[in-house]
Amino acid sequence: MQEFLSAIRSDASSEEIAAIPIPEVYRAAHVRRDEVGMFDGLESAEKDPRKSLHVGDVAVPELAPDEAYVAVMASAINFNTVWTSIFEPLPTFGFLDRLGKESRWGARHALDYHVVGSDAAGVVLRTGSAVRNWKPGDKVTVHCNYVDDQSPSAHDDSILADNQRIWGFETNFGGLADLAVVKANQLMPKPRHLTWEEAAANALCNSTSYRMLVSKNGAQMQQGDKVLVWGASGGLGAYAVQYVLNGGGTPVGVVSSPEKVELLHEFGVDAVIDRKSAGYRFWKDEHTQDESEWRRLGKDIRSLVGEDVDIVFEHPGRQTMGASVFAAKRGGIIMTCAATSGYMIEYDNRHLWMKLKTIKGSHFANYREAWDANQLVCEGKILPPLSAVYTLEHVGDAAYQVHRNLHEGKIGVLCLAPEEGLGIDDPEFRAEVGEDRITLFRRHGA
Ligand code: NAP
Repeated sequence: MQEFLSAIRSDASSEEIAAIPIPEVYRAAHVRRDEVGMFDGLESAEKDPRKSLHVGDVAVPELAPDEAYVAVMASAINFNTVWTSIFEPLPTFGFLDRLGKESRWGARHALDYHVVGSDAAGVVLRTGSAVRNWKPGDKVTVHCNYVDDQSPSAHDDSILADNQRIWGFETNFGGLADLAVVKANQLMPKPRHLTWEEAAANALCNSTSYRMLVSKNGAQMQQGDKVLVWGASGGLGAYAVQYVLNGGGTPVGVVSSPEKVELLHEFGVDAVIDRKSAGYRFWKDEHTQDESEWRRLGKDIRSLVGEDVDIVFEHPGRQTMGASVFAAKRGGIIMTCAATSGYMIEYDNRHLWMKLKTIKGSHFANYREAWDANQLVCEGKILPPLSAVYTLEHVGDAAYQVHRNLHEGKIGVLCLAPEEGLGIDDPEFRAEVGEDRITLFRRHGA
């Protein structure tokens, strides 16, 4: 892969990159099938990604006609890599085995190792014979909606497709590696003003937040809407608050430290609640919720923005869902895409039906939505909330930070890129967007 790196760094032509041979093996972060029981009996918090995520050489698989090899310059940690690395809620080898039964090409994925990672920025090295829109040398970012486009179910809103998968989580050959295998319909242009690691941070969380708030498939946020954003300085939340601000709404961010409050203020979010210092106890004990605590949250929101919120951007799940359903205004909507703190949810249904509220599920994004969200990054209207950068060798440490909620925004991972700061093709536009704005989270995390 070093030959590719030298070619990329010297801006080699498409033909020159196409002439470099694809290696037989590549360096990749992976978990192993024979280790799925390694954390049996431990609590989630005790399960340590540093023990289960390995970095080493794996074989380069054959390329299908609709796929591309991408040299991954940088990737990013998503929570799904945490789930894979702690084998929760299920070991991801079951996903690979199911994919393995679908076709000859699917069979490549059912291996005894799972190369993880659902974000990437890099350079196309080769394209399969059916790929029309991309060629070797193209600088790209990768979104993670992995869809079989031969199924009719994939042709309305592709995230609804019967066999939709998340690349690098429910498929093999993900982005935390020097090389990735992706479908051509996962490729998007790399934002020219960003470094590799800034460009790699966005696709998964940015597209998810875009669908939840902006798309016709989500809440269709209106100007003036008040939006409660849990984890507002985290991966999803840091994009959500930008969409609310861009769309003329008012975000109410919830975070868990004074440092995060300060970061959000600098990011332009005026109404911020520190849930730790507020000391909410939505659950009295494991089985009983406390409505007076929901009321206290509602009162805190009204004291900041004057009224109840139109939309709740929900992902913590069990710990917060009761409060989220309560806090939405009459007729409001609770958009949910996850359940970090537990997926068996409990809320008081009277608050839902009597006040005509809606709970709507959402999952990643279709190609159109991911493309439109990427375009906003390209235009400098959405900023990468990149707070820290690790090398691939230290991917376990990076995943540990996210697992233990020790991070802000996104954590980047350098794969082929030997150092931070490379890959900027349009420094003038970068200056126009503002170096300080682009690097706010990074300076805060440093
Ligand atoms: P993240 O970077 O870890 O951010 C999540 C934030 O949630 C944290 O920063 C934390 O903020 C807050 N949080 C955690 N536990 C909480 C609790 N018990 N109560 C209130 N707030 C809590 O993760 P992310 O990338 O935003 O992802 C969040 C979840 O969404 C994960 O479960 C992930 O798997 C899922 N996800 C789903 C999709 C999808 O397509 N369905 C896409 C992306 C992510 P504070 O501590 O500062 O409050």
